[in-house]
Amino acid sequence: MRAVCWHGKHDVRVDEVADPQIVSKGDVIVKVALTCICGSDLHLYNGYVPTMKKGDIMGHEFVGEIVETGSGVSRFHVGDRVIVPFPISCGVCWYCKHELWSLCDNSNPNSWMLEHLYGDTGGGIFGYSHMYGGFSGGQAEYVRVPFADVGLEKIPDGIPYEQVVLLTDICPTGYQAADNCNISPGDTVAVWGCGPVGLMAMMSARHLGAERVIGIDRFPERLQMAHSQCRAEVLNYEEVDVAEALQNMTGGRGPDSCIDAVGLEAVGTGIEGIYDSVKQTLRLETDRTSALRQLTKACRKGGTLSIVGVYSGFIDNFPMGAIFAKGLTLHAGQAHVHKYLPHLLKLVEEQQLNPSSIITHRLPLDQAPGAYKTFLNKQDACIKIVLNPQESASAARPGPEEARAV
Ligand SMILES: [Zn+2]
Ligand SMILES: [Zn+2]
Repeated sequence: MRAVCWHGKHDVRVDEVADPQIVSKGDVIVKVALTCICGSDLHLYNGYVPTMKKGDIMGHEFVGEIVETGSGVSRFHVGDRVIVPFPISCGVCWYCKHELWSLCDNSNPNSWMLEHLYGDTGGGIFGYSHMYGGFSGGQAEYVRVPFADVGLEKIPDGIPYEQVVLLTDICPTGYQAADNCNISPGDTVAVWGCGPVGLMAMMSARHLGAERVIGIDRFPERLQMAHSQCRAEVLNYEEVDVAEALQNMTGGRGPDSCIDAVGLEAVGTGIEGIYDSVKQTLRLETDRTSALRQLTKACRKGGTLSIVGVYSGFIDNFPMGAIFAKGLTLHAGQAHVHKYLPHLLKLVEEQQLNPSSIITHRLPLDQAPGAYKTFLNKQDACIKIVLNPQESASAARPGPEEARAV
């Protein structure tokens, strides 16, 4: 089969690889209908996530049809169309039983890699390095999905794949970010980063009752989408002092909740931005934190910081004093997709939520190398790219060989 494989920094290729096999009785094989490139795939692409190996198959956002089931699978059959959550969860450990699905204790055979650094770590994730289990990802024609009875959700008849493919990650991730803010009627929620997760967080904050939603970014097309799709007020952080603008917009108090949908590759401005870039390049700090510092400064006293942008290591100049002095609550972590999926699927079915409205690019899988570049450089007003592994590149499109050379 064909699959998008990691070969090093800024080097992904569509390779011919062996088809996946059932290895455990709870597995299914899914024929991938659609798969997305995620902002967190760019951390792999940019070489910020250790324990990637040449030839690893990328991709943790995918939907498709079951073509083979292990002998222990009871909830699904060949031919079922399914949504696959990006975290892999066993369903029986203490964490899964407490709905902390992405922290599953049994699904990551390589959790020891991070234990001495973090104390403990999360469950397995498709296509996301060996420290998250080394599972092959879904940017491929086929993928093996373990613990199928636990994680998968059947797609109701009549719902196209495109409407639900974002329920695999960014939609529940954005929803959890907003849910962690414990929004009360009248609340103002500010969201740093108007990429896919930020947009979903804003839509979710509206759905959960926020009166005002404020989106912060520097790309006009993202700010425009935040305004049109999420009815957000918007701030361009290259044009205004964000903390000051937010104070002015909220009568001097600051937003009730601040969501970080940026993560470790935040692009800072001024002296602080240069400081972070230099230290990260020299490996003196692992993560750039300009967004996180702004969030902490801007949030009202007693407010909530909700962090969904990915962080991986140690940070410098972290304003712990402000968190303490202002009595802030901090939430962070990977989304517990399994917890939110049924509810979000119902909202899509009832047309209360339309995640696919943020998809800007639809391409055959063969064009993945160029697509990663487009997404990285935010070219062509790109916000979210969906790849179709079953559609082969037509004569009008570059073939696999040309795509490889892009
Ligand atoms: Zn993702
Ligand atoms: Zn578990």
